[in-house]
Amino acid sequence: MSRFQATLDAVAAAMARETERGAPASYIPELAGVDPSRFGVAVAPVDAARPPAAAGDADVRFSIQSVCKVFMLTLALERAGDALWRRVGREPSGDPFNSIVQLEHERGVPRNPFINAGAIVVADVLLADRTPEAAILDVLTLVRRLCGDEGVGCDARVAASEARTGMRNRALANFMAAEGNLRHPVEQVLQVYFHCCAIAMSCRQLAAAGRYLAAAGRTGGCDPVITPQRARRINALMLTCGHYDASGEFAFSVGIPGKSGVGGGILGVVPGVASLAVWSPGLNAKGNSLIGSKAMAMLAARTGWSVFGPL
Ligand code: GLU
Repeated sequence: MSRFQATLDAVAAAMARETERGAPASYIPELAGVDPSRFGVAVAPVDAARPPAAAGDADVRFSIQSVCKVFMLTLALERAGDALWRRVGREPSGDPFNSIVQLEHERGVPRNPFINAGAIVVADVLLADRTPEAAILDVLTLVRRLCGDEGVGCDARVAASEARTGMRNRALANFMAAEGNLRHPVEQVLQVYFHCCAIAMSCRQLAAAGRYLAAAGRTGGCDPVITPQRARRINALMLTCGHYDASGEFAFSVGIPGKSGVGGGILGVVPGVASLAVWSPGLNAKGNSLIGSKAMAMLAARTGWSVFGPL
């Protein structure tokens, strides 16, 4: 049995007792209808020979939503290199995930790749010389390779709902296009963005997929996915920008890089040790998983995991 199993079981039992669970995202029926009592957790040690340990609903697939922005960024950096940073910033926004206000002040250059506007620019980079279908398949191919599971795919109904309701994302994309920061037609860029948000994964798959970020850019002892420097930089962005305008709070209460999504998932990275994933669909006021954030804090407290030093 994994050395993490008892801790994960304790976290799952504690989270099952929580009565305040938040409400699932309501902007599309596929997310609104998910049972808020669900909770899953998984930990993938950097030693790839050891399979992820898991507890609760760790094998139930959920919509990873904005967690996909980590994988999109990974691929875009491989394609565009540091030139990407001319089109997307690296500062926390302090604004909600879908905010448009800052874009006008900074001439269509989003604050960071983990807010919607930033991920839309990243989607534009991924579209270079490809159809939207090919760009989506590239992201899926990366994610499948990272978690070693060919079964990962996009939920077509979620993608269709995102496209139907995505007026704010359309506004962000059109504004950036007007400022010259998109190279492809807005609807193609959004097709890529919406499908990436609609990727469905379980906690166990997500923890395994994030392992390269804890393992200096390598996965499974095979070829490197990215350089150690890029892994470190992505972790830095997850820490400072991974929870929108609650990124400071997550760093304060959990103390590790993390990326959340409105599907209720959070990917966490403990450099040199493990990657972890939690899922619970009820959200707090900032759009991050309420129980997921609590579970991450409990896990960090029990294990001593933190990038800031001991408790
Ligand atoms: N699909 C969502 C949107 O673009 C993703 C937001 C999120 O997970 O934070 O609005």
